[in-house]
Amino acid sequence: MLKSAFILPELFKPIPFTLKEVLLMMLRKLPASLLFLALVSSAFISRPLAAQPAAQPAPPAVFGYADFTAQGKIEEQFLAVPDAKLAGQHLKTLTREPHLASTPEDRKTAEYVARKFREAGLETEIVPYRVLLNQPKEVRVEAWDSSGKLLMSGPAREHVEGDPFQDDPRVVMPFNGSSGSGDVTAEVVYANYGRLEDFDLLAARHIDLKGKIVLVRYGSNFRGVKVYIAEQRGAAGVLIYSDPQDDGFSKGDAWPQGPWRPETGVQRGSVQYMFKYPGDPETPGVASTLDLPDSARVSPYGSQPRIISIPISYHDASPILQALQGPGVPQGWQGGLGYRYHIGTVTGPGSVKVHLVSQQDYQRRIIWDVIGKIKGAEYPDDWVVIGNHRDAWVYGAVDPNSGTAAMLESVHGIGALLKQGWRPRRTIVICSWDAEEEGLIGSTEWVEQNAKALERAVAYFNTDVGVAGPDFSAAAVPSLKEFLRELTRSVPSPLGGTVYQQWKISSTKENEHRRSNAPPVAGEEVHVGDLGSGSDFTPFLQHVGVPSTDISSGGPYGVYHSVFDNYAWYTQNADPNFVYLQEMARVFGLEALRMADADVLPYDYVAYAREIGSYIEAARKKAGDAGLNALDFGPAQAAVARFSAAAEHVHGLQLAASGDLPRLNVALRQAETDLTSQAGLPNRPWFRHTIFAPGEYTGYAAVVIPGVNEALDSKDQQRAAQQLTVLTQALTRAAQTLEGAR
Ligand SMILES: [Zn+2]
Repeated sequence: MLKSAFILPELFKPIPFTLKEVLLMMLRKLPASLLFLALVSSAFISRPLAAQPAAQPAPPAVFGYADFTAQGKIEEQFLAVPDAKLAGQHLKTLTREPHLASTPEDRKTAEYVARKFREAGLETEIVPYRVLLNQPKEVRVEAWDSSGKLLMSGPAREHVEGDPFQDDPRVVMPFNGSSGSGDVTAEVVYANYGRLEDFDLLAARHIDLKGKIVLVRYGSNFRGVKVYIAEQRGAAGVLIYSDPQDDGFSKGDAWPQGPWRPETGVQRGSVQYMFKYPGDPETPGVASTLDLPDSARVSPYGSQPRIISIPISYHDASPILQALQGPGVPQGWQGGLGYRYHIGTVTGPGSVKVHLVSQQDYQRRIIWDVIGKIKGAEYPDDWVVIGNHRDAWVYGAVDPNSGTAAMLESVHGIGALLKQGWRPRRTIVICSWDAEEEGLIGSTEWVEQNAKALERAVAYFNTDVGVAGPDFSAAAVPSLKEFLRELTRSVPSPLGGTVYQQWKISSTKENEHRRSNAPPVAGEEVHVGDLGSGSDFTPFLQHVGVPSTDISSGGPYGVYHSVFDNYAWYTQNADPNFVYLQEMARVFGLEALRMADADVLPYDYVAYAREIGSYIEAARKKAGDAGLNALDFGPAQAAVARFSAAAEHVHGLQLAASGDLPRLNVALRQAETDLTSQAGLPNRPWFRHTIFAPGEYTGYAAVVIPGVNEALDSKDQQRAAQQLTVLTQALTRAAQTLEGAR
C-alpha cells in the first residue's frame, strides 16, 4: 500500500484558486474554466494510475503472509525513505576515481560502503580474500597488409571531445582479465561473433585457425566463450572489437552526443572460463582466505585461457577488417562499418598480418567484500542475502555503481526501520562484492567460505547494472518469478503508476534478462527471465542452491566497460534526477523485507514444476529431431508430474499459512537444494544445479536442464541418458520433500 506522497506531486498541489474565484472566472472567461476542468480531471484520471487507493476495505492478500496489515505498514515506512538525491550523491562519490579491484581506490569505496552500512546500524565487516588477478603491463597491436604496409599501430587511447573523466592517469589500459601473456605474429581470420556456429562455418570451409589470430566482434555470447572456442581450434590469439552495428552509431548517436559507443571506446572484460568455474582460478570450491596456504592452490588453467586476447575499439579494428580479403562474409557476418567484410586469407594479397603483445602482471592480490548483517529476531540462522558488486573496470557509473548507489539507499531505508525498533524475523545480510569483473570472485569466495550457513539461506537477491535507463527487467528462479511480479506492484514508477505497470508496457522490449534456451511461457503478462551467469547470483544458485533473483533497469547503453561509463554519461543519458536509483532502491529493499518477514516462504513451486515440465518436453522433441530415439524421457516426465502434484499440495499449505510454519519453511527451502546434485555437471562439477547453468557455449545465457540439453547438443546419447537419470533423481527428491510437508 502506498501513501499519496508517492503520487506525482504537481497533481496534488492545491488548485491555486478559491472556489469563489473559479466560479467568477468560469462566468467571465471560458479558457480559465477549461483550465480548471483540465486540472480537476487530470487529477482524477491520474489518481488510480499513480497509486493504490489510500484506504482499502480489507488488507491485501500477499503470498507468504497470513495477515499483511502490519507488514504493509512497515513496507510503507520503508518506501518513504530511499532518496533520489542521496542516491545521486552515493553514485558521485563511488565513481569519483577509477576503482579496479584490489587498487587503493577500490579499498576507499569499500570503506565508504562500510561507513554507510554502519550508519544504518548494520553489523559490518570488510572481508578480505587473496586471489589471483592480472593487471596489464603492456598491450600492443600492429597490423600490416601483404605488401608490408603498416595498417595500424595501437591501441589508440579511448578519447572523445569533451568527456571530463577520460584523462585520469589511473584509467587502466584496455585489457582482458585472465588473458594469457605473450608476443605473437600471425595472419588474421574474421570469425563474426565467435559463436560455436561461426567457428563451425569456418571449419566447414576448411579455414584452419591453427596458429592464426582470430578477429571477433563483441555480442551474442560471453567473451570468454569466444576465446575458449578459438583456443580449442588452435588459434594463437584473439582480438575482440566492438562493432558499431552492435553498440555504436548504427544504434544511435555516440557519446558525448548520445549514449552509444564512440569510435575509440573499448569493452574491457574478463575472458575467464567462468562456465567451468568462477571465482579465484586457483581455488575452485575453496575460499581464498588470507590464511589459505599456497599449497592448497591449484593450477589456474582449469578456468583460465592460455592464449592472448586483447579487446580493441573499431577505430583500431577497422584498418584490419578493411584490408582483409578472401571470401566475402556469409549472411549475418557483415557489421556496421562502411565496406564489405571478408573472412581473410592466409597467404598472398589480401592477407593481413598482426603482431600482438600482451604482458600481464599476474599476482595474488587482496580484494575486499563488505558484509553487513541485521540479526533476525525469530530465525537468526535463516538468511536473506542481497548483493551488488562494487569494483569497476574504470569508473563504473552504470556497471556496477548505479546498483551500489541504489543498494545504499535500500540500506538507508532499512536503517530507518531499525532506528524505530523494528527487527526482521530472519537475518538480512547485505553484501558489496569485489572483483566481480574478473570472474565473480568476491561473491564466489564468500559463498565457498559460507557454504554450510547458506544451506539455510532463503534467498539471494542480486543487482549489478542497476540503472542504465527506465526499463525494469528481472530474472529469477521460477519459484520467485511471481514474488517479483507481486512486489513490483507495491513500488511507484517515476513514469507514473507502479513499477509492475511500466514493466508490463516495456517487457516486450529486448533486454538483458531475456536470453535463455527455455521455451516461451504462454499467457504470462510480464516476462521474468532465467538465471544464466554474468553476475554474482551464480555461486548462490548454481553452486549451493539458494533461490535467487536479479533485477535491473535498462536503456540505451553503449559504453559498457569503457572509460566513458562515468558520472557524466550517467547524468546525461541514464537518469539525470536519480529517480530510477530511487526506484531500484525501493524494489531491492522490498525484496529483502518481504522475504525476511514472511510467515511462509513465498516460493511458487507450481510455476517451477510447470517450467521444468516444459523444459523436459522441449528436450524430448530435440532428442527426436536429432534422431536420439532410444532415450526414455518417461521417468523424468513422471518425476516432474509427481513434483507438480506435490507442489499443488504444498501451495495449499502455503495459502492456509497455519500449523507448524517453521517446519513447512524448512521443507520449502530444502526443495531447491534437492534440485542440485553433489556430482555437478559433467566436466564442470562446480556447477551443481540440475535445472540452470550458464551454457558452456553461451556463457551468459541460461541453459535449462543443462546436463540433458548439453548432452543432446553434442549428440551423446549415453551421457543424455545418464543426465536424465540425475534429473529424475533430483525431481524425485524435491517431490518427496514437498510431499512430506505438513
Ligand atoms: Zn557488473
